[in-house]
Amino acid sequence: MNQNGRRVFLAHNSCLNSSYDLNVLKVGLERDGYVIVDQPELADEVIFSGCSVRSTWVDDAISQIHQISSRASSAKITVTGCIANVSAGVVSAAIAARPINFQSHADILRNRTGQDFRALDRDISQDTAHDFEGNPDNGLTQMRRRVGTAKAEVLARFEQLDREHGTALASLYRRTTKGFVFYHEEESAELITVTRSCLYRCSFCSIPRGRGDFESVPIDDILRKATAALDRGVRRLILVGDEVGNYGAEGAGPRFADLLRALVALNPQIRLSIRYIEPKTFMKNAELLKSLCDSGNIDLLYVSLQSGSEQILRAMNRNPDLSKISDAYAAFRNTTDVVFYCNWMVGFPGETESDFQQTLKLARALDLQINVAIPFSARPDTPAEHYADQIDDKTKEYRLSRLSIELADMKAAMFEQQLSFLDDEARRSLLQQIKLGEMQQYQAPLAEERPVVFQRRLQTGGDDAGKA
Ligand code: SF4
Repeated sequence: MNQNGRRVFLAHNSCLNSSYDLNVLKVGLERDGYVIVDQPELADEVIFSGCSVRSTWVDDAISQIHQISSRASSAKITVTGCIANVSAGVVSAAIAARPINFQSHADILRNRTGQDFRALDRDISQDTAHDFEGNPDNGLTQMRRRVGTAKAEVLARFEQLDREHGTALASLYRRTTKGFVFYHEEESAELITVTRSCLYRCSFCSIPRGRGDFESVPIDDILRKATAALDRGVRRLILVGDEVGNYGAEGAGPRFADLLRALVALNPQIRLSIRYIEPKTFMKNAELLKSLCDSGNIDLLYVSLQSGSEQILRAMNRNPDLSKISDAYAAFRNTTDVVFYCNWMVGFPGETESDFQQTLKLARALDLQINVAIPFSARPDTPAEHYADQIDDKTKEYRLSRLSIELADMKAAMFEQQLSFLDDEARRSLLQQIKLGEMQQYQAPLAEERPVVFQRRLQTGGDDAGKA
């Protein structure tokens, strides 16, 4: 079914998990003869993959679709990703002047090219060294856009200190800072999706609906990709999934622990970064995970605790046993330098000041390397959307800013000791810059959650118009 040059403009505002799938679709379209164009005006069809995890991302997606459709007045508009399953009505109403098709990545691929999405994914590599933001022609610009100017400045200053003093601050900063950890400025990594969607039903979350039925990628496919990456000299694998700890739970085959053991058996030097595992499955597999952290085979665990209040965790329909989790974290941090990445949610319905204080207290006590504060956003058709005791925006914002400041202070404190060789003024200024970097991630819409960039960001006017 060769399309002989039918032109497609791809854009997205989705997370790494979903943009992985858009990348698969892109390869499939190109294999079938489609041409991926870098301006909407040139396209016969626009495919936009959108995020619906927070209302701000839905608004952002709608605004981008508006811009694109006004520049591609005769193109067919197709919307995919979570937004197509969760917020199709809102998107259609907002873009009323144009008919919009809503389809999954897999359906788009099958309908346009006849190819099977899973078979195609099996066949391709998503090595972060290729076609990602670090392309030599745009590496620095892209990095600044992704992490913000303050973090880029911190990195530049650390690199200078490393040159002058023989320290390894830049590497430590990259390894422990949001925006850097899933990229390849230091080394390549192979992204491998191992699960899609989630078996849990947290009361605030639209991911199970947005991503469809939970499924695990067959272990042979994962091992084949891992082997190919290792053969190319890539030692770091990023295991991607909306929740990877339930790997295999929908079938009778290998489970998450089997997958980890099989990967490590391929090469003792393998390093796994796990993006995302939930506290329940983290605890269930804690012993194995710890031994793999101890042996250096796991370098990052993305586990979101969300709240320090067991009452709120119960209302979220999540694991409320925080004392066990705290003990487990302490044990990990005693013997390993694995990086923990954690999201904290503020303003969940019913959250009192005391609940919020418990979150602050737990975040301080755990002192994890990467922490992100996220405001609760009511998602359509989730139980939490209908909870009576919604928190007003002002309180939510106030709590968000207090938690963000606390997390930024913790980040600076992480480096205080390391910078003790500097004079007071130089140290203070650098610590201030580190805090600024942490705070900046809440101010500007950075591209960190959009790591796969097929085309540069759409420009709407001014001097940059037309460079999209
Ligand atoms: S475990 Fe994570 S992905 Fe699954 S429903 Fe809860 S928040 Fe959503």
